[in-house]
Amino acid sequence: MSVTILTAYDERPDGPGEFVYRAGGTDLQERMRTTGATPHVLDLTGVPGFAGIDRTEAGTTIGAGTTVATLARDLATDYPALALTAAGLATPQVRATATLGGNLLQRTRCWYFRHPHTTCFKSGGDSCPARDGRHLYGVAFDTAPCVHPHPSSLAMVLLTYAATVDTTQRSGLAVGDVLGDGSDPRRDHLLADDEVLTRVTLPPPAAGERAAYFRSISRFEAEWPLVEAVVRVVRDGAGTVTSCGLAIGGVAPVPLRLDALEDLVTGSMLDDDTVAAAAAGASAGASPLPETGYKVALVEATVREVLERVRG
Ligand SMILES: Cc1cc2nc3c(=O)[nH]c(=O)nc-3n(C[C@H](O)[C@H](O)[C@H](O)COP(=O)(O)OP(=O)(O)OC[C@H]3O[C@@H](n4cnc5c(N)ncnc54)[C@H](O)[C@@H]3O)c2cc1C
Ligand code: SF4
Repeated sequence: MSVTILTAYDERPDGPGEFVYRAGGTDLQERMRTTGATPHVLDLTGVPGFAGIDRTEAGTTIGAGTTVATLARDLATDYPALALTAAGLATPQVRATATLGGNLLQRTRCWYFRHPHTTCFKSGGDSCPARDGRHLYGVAFDTAPCVHPHPSSLAMVLLTYAATVDTTQRSGLAVGDVLGDGSDPRRDHLLADDEVLTRVTLPPPAAGERAAYFRSISRFEAEWPLVEAVVRVVRDGAGTVTSCGLAIGGVAPVPLRLDALEDLVTGSMLDDDTVAAAAAGASAGASPLPETGYKVALVEATVREVLERVRG
């Protein structure tokens, strides 16, 4: 394998598609190994300002090169939902290296996509072999031509904060603007080939926020979740929920923010009836594939779990 490693200060090869960016490399290097691809690699690490957390009264700005482990450690008090999700994904080794930007822009984990001898929409083909083939870890909300769920746990939790994203070409993008809705099956994100994600901005911390994150998983760790959910709530002195953010991942072409259930929970005391209604509602609109029917019950159980955890 012949790979050219460039730094951000080197002259780039001409034209989009001639190089790929590398942050932590935990996704990119694995794809290069499994597919045998040998692109020019443009290393983003070391670029001034690429990593770091900046708190102001207007909000908190996180450099795209900030590691997942840093998010888990440094944001536990101010943004507990983000910190818990960061702490819950992958392994300590991956979290120490993987970056916020790389997490949002990582490619699908579908085994057809990562196989060196199969093609699909996402690798230059014109079909989805998983749809008629094996899709045990596929979507339960079949809303797009690609039937593998988006892999980013951090995208899921950032939806609940209505976080915005800046790139070298655009600013103030919603996470949904970065990931799209899955309608273009070739893409896992909508940034241009030569566009660098530079930072993510969160609103100011919500005083008294409590959060819970839970992943239903096929083994203890070092695995993407079958279904994951995160919730963040603020309650007043009487225990009434005054604001709620709730999202799920592992089940659709992009993570899903459950706005209707946020409205259901807001104004409630998070009593048993509310938790049961929200859990039951979490699977509304599900349209599982032949092998993913099991995820419908898991969605409900996972949402129930985070709501029970967050109410303490
Ligand atoms: C065992 C295991 C379990 C895992 N479980 C989970 C999980 O549960 N949830 C989860 O979310 N993730 C999980 N991951 C994936 C892991 O979180 C990602 O590999 C990691 O976040 C990618 O970050 P990185 O900095 O290493 O990205 P890289 O590998 O460097 O890059 C990933 C992609 O993004 C592009 N890129 C990176 N940064 C930028 C930027 N700033 N601007 C433009 N393009 C950029 C690269 O070109 C590449 O295509 C798991 C990984 C492993 C190995
Ligand atoms: S599910 Fe998506 S990534 Fe997997 S084969 Fe189909 S199009 Fe490709």
